[in-house]
Amino acid sequence: MIITEMTKLQTLCEEVKTVKEGEEIGAQLLTELTKSETGIGLAANQIGINKRVCVINVKEPLVLINPRIVERSEKEFIFPEGCLSFPNKHVRTKRNVSVVVETDNHDGKLSFSAENENINDAFECACVQHEIDHLDGITMFDRAITQQPYKAPEKIGRNERVTITDGKETKELKWKKAQPLVESGDWEMSPA
Ligand SMILES: [Zn+2]
Repeated sequence: MIITEMTKLQTLCEEVKTVKEGEEIGAQLLTELTKSETGIGLAANQIGINKRVCVINVKEPLVLINPRIVERSEKEFIFPEGCLSFPNKHVRTKRNVSVVVETDNHDGKLSFSAENENINDAFECACVQHEIDHLDGITMFDRAITQQPYKAPEKIGRNERVTITDGKETKELKWKKAQPLVESGDWEMSPA
């Protein structure tokens, strides 16, 4: 059963005392994750266990016991995220382009980076940050980029050229073409 109550998901998780305890929780998490068709990660508090264990399964199943993010890039990227605790909800979040993670069950450090072209690397990088956030009682909504309710500038001509961005791509268009995109909420006005 996946926990969907926000108040329970805001609970801070405690470290597990042993790797064995962490592995047992990790196995339960992978079983639960396998049941979902779309999930790529799950944290212990999402199944009611308030311990610092999470799993991700993008390229391969990975159990993280007492994970700590020890380095974060300053550079961030915008990513569309979902969460098994909030079915059918999606938000755009800002995540670090790369992070380095230490755990109790992997030797050395694990590096995750969305810097290259492989979309799976971006998914894995956003996912590991999303899951470790869960262990700190943080959900994707806390990381969401808030979209300001849009109000059209008053003195903008229909044929005036404006620059808009969706966070990845930037376009210069006549306002009459740009307006519907901006009002959809997916694009925003960008300082040219
Ligand atoms: Zn989640």
